[in-house]
Order: sequence, then C-alpha cells, then structure tokens
Amino acid sequence: GKPVGGRGSKSRISGPIPESYFDLTKFPEFLLLNDQQKQMEASGVRNPFFSVHEGRVDNMTRIDGRELISYASYNYLGLSGHPDVNASAKDAIDTFGTSVSASRIVSGEKTIHRDLEAELSEFLGVEDVMTFPGGHATNETIIGHLVGPQDLIVHDAFAHNSIVQGAILSGARRRPFKHNDWRDLFEILKDARRDFRRVLIAVEGLYSMDGDYPDLPRFVEIKKRFKAWLYVDEAHSIGTLGETGRGIGEMYGVDRGDVDCWMGTLSKSFGSCGGFLAGKAELIQFLRYTTPGYVFAAGMPPANAGAALGSLRMLKANPHLVKKLQSNSQLFLKLAQDAGIDTGMALGTPIIPIICGHNSRALLLSEALYKQGINAQPILYPAVPQEETRVRIFMTASHTEEQIRHSVEVLAKAWNKVMNVGSEA
Ligand code: PMP
Repeated sequence: GKPVGGRGSKSRISGPIPESYFDLTKFPEFLLLNDQQKQMEASGVRNPFFSVHEGRVDNMTRIDGRELISYASYNYLGLSGHPDVNASAKDAIDTFGTSVSASRIVSGEKTIHRDLEAELSEFLGVEDVMTFPGGHATNETIIGHLVGPQDLIVHDAFAHNSIVQGAILSGARRRPFKHNDWRDLFEILKDARRDFRRVLIAVEGLYSMDGDYPDLPRFVEIKKRFKAWLYVDEAHSIGTLGETGRGIGEMYGVDRGDVDCWMGTLSKSFGSCGGFLAGKAELIQFLRYTTPGYVFAAGMPPANAGAALGSLRMLKANPHLVKKLQSNSQLFLKLAQDAGIDTGMALGTPIIPIICGHNSRALLLSEALYKQGINAQPILYPAVPQEETRVRIFMTASHTEEQIRHSVEVLAKAWNKVMNVGSEA
C-alpha cells in the first residue's frame, strides 16, 4: 500500500502504533525472507548462499573439506592470492600499517595511493584517477553527487544496483532504457533532453548477469548529440576485455576523452577491494574535494592499495593472462552451445549464464554440479526475472582446458536432466 506520509500527512495513525511499524519480526520484508528460507529448507536443496570457502578461490576452491572446480568468483586473472600480489599487500602493511586512520583529504593520503592512481591513469590513458575503499560505494557516492533533482539519469535496464542506488540518492529523475538498446536511449533523450539540466547516461562495460556488452561507440555518439554525460562502469570489463585488458574502451578503440566517467572496481581483475573513477584532471580534482563518500570516509587501506598496485603491475607484464581468460571463455561457451545448453546472450566473455528459467531448476542444477565437484552459483528471482533464473559461470585465466571440457560435460548432463529435455523419449 501507499506509505504513510511525513508530518502533516492526511493518513495520520489513529489508535495504537501497529507492531509492524516497530517490531522487525513483523516487517513484511522480514516475513517474506523467512518464507523464502522455509521454502528452501522444505525443498531439501542445500542453501547455496553464504557457503563457506576455506581458502583462496581461483579455478578451485574448498568447501566443507572438499576440493571443487570453481566458477563462482570473479578472480578473473587469478591475481587474488598470487604470491607477488600478496607480497605487495604485505609490504604496504609493513610500511603504512593496516589503516590510513583518516580521510584522504585530512592526513590519510599515502604515497601508495598516489602510486596506484598514477599507474592506473597511465594504464588507462586518462588524465587522472581517484580510488575508493568500495566499488558499490563509488557508484553510489559519485552518481549521487554529480547530478541532482533538476537532472535526468538514463541507465541501462540491467544496470547494477550501485548505479540505481546512486541515482536514487541524487534525487534526479531516473529512466531506464531497454538493455543495450541505444535506439531506445535516443528516443528517450529526443523527447526529454530539454526538460532537464544535466543528463547522465550510465552503462556497464560488461553486464554481470548476462556477460554481454553495449555498442559503446553508439553511446558516445548519442552523448555528444544530446550534450549529455557518459558514465561507463567497467567493474567486469577491466582486465577482461580488449587486447591487453584495458576494457571496453580498448576493445572498441573509443577515445578516452569521449567518456566522461570511467568507473571500475578493484575487487575483480585487480584482486583487491575498492573502486576507481578515471577521467579528466579537472573532474577528478573537483570530486576529490567535494564527493561526500570520499571526503567523509576513511581512505583505502594500505593492503588493498598494495594488492591493487601489485595486480596492475602483473597485468601490465602478463597480457597473456588476458588472452588465456578470453580463450577459456570462448572455449567454454562453444562447448556449452554445441551441447545445446541455453547460454542466453553470452558473447564469449568470462561471464556465461546457464539459463534455467525457474528458481527450483537453477537451485537443482547448482546442487547437481556441487555434488559432482563443481561450484557455480544460482542466480534466482527476483535478482533476474523468474523465466530467466540461471546458474552463472565466472571463467578465470587459471582454468585448464581439461577442467573446462570436464565441466561442460557434467553441466550438459545435469542441465538436460533439470530441464527435462528429451523426457518424452
Ligand atoms: N558495478 C558493477 C557492475 C558490479 O557488478 C559491482 C559488484 N560486483 C559493483 C559495481 C560493486 O563493486 P564492489 O563489489 O567492488 O563493491
């Protein structure tokens, strides 16, 4: 129903305050989660959430003392846990401690932050970069800060939660456009551009549920035509797309200056945790002094900066890791498609959805794989539409051809069984 308004609202509560207004266990959202968990328990399927991993996760992981082939984490280049990256993180702790103990702007700034940001700028070919302790928080605070109530945010319908949360925080008008559909974006802006002050177009370099990507040059054209800003979230595309892992900009040969905000995370290819924003010098300078989630938050911990810097150096020195990741991804996809598995919109990037189309099927498939030594996460409704629930494959550069061939064989049998394909025969 309609939420109760603030002071002066006509729907003032009469009589006692309902329990569901102050007792968490009576909140409708609490009861909904409880119901879902009871259903899962009743179905007898193992709860696939919060499974406890007993060590580093790369192409393998250990859960409940069992070694499994893993497709459930985005350690794309295997750099989290790499000895050189670990050493870089440890060195940073030895030099700077475990906290920077302040916001960057007030005495939290360390040489390791400067080194990381300078090397990232050089790697990306931008004028400047700023880094944040969290990737989700980067999108929230930057988008929340760059635009306001007089403005419009037009984002891909599949945009990550952190982009949507940033848009909500900003108070701007928010309009999703159809997934990857630049024509739909064009129509929206043709109609609405003149009703707003600033317009921010937000897309991702690689979509985390589907493994597909936008036709970036088209978005650049539209941004220029409508005098809008273009924001590209490279969380999953940095280190995975382009000849040398420089992301979707490299893949399409887009000029760095044609995108206003290149955002990315350090938690995936960079084996660390945190986010970055890359762009023109004056933008980054402005944001360093004014972004709420940057100015009023502690700076990135030294270990995270050290790990990201170590990973960046590994990536620059080892572009073959990117090639291996890409060829592994293409091999997995080809084998899966040859076996008749529905891989949705997959394009041969390291994210490959195995479409199941029902929460129970995705759960059963994930469990069948788990029992046969393969860890892959189900993505359920409401994270994706009910008819598109899936098991998601994250490929890494470390998977061997043998592991991939074996996995797809197991997957094909399990998927066919779960989907009941050929059950009439
Ligand atoms: N953007 C996208 C597209 C993401 O998929 C994610 C999360 N995986 C984030 C931002 C948030 O990054 P982080 O997990 O590093 O906080």
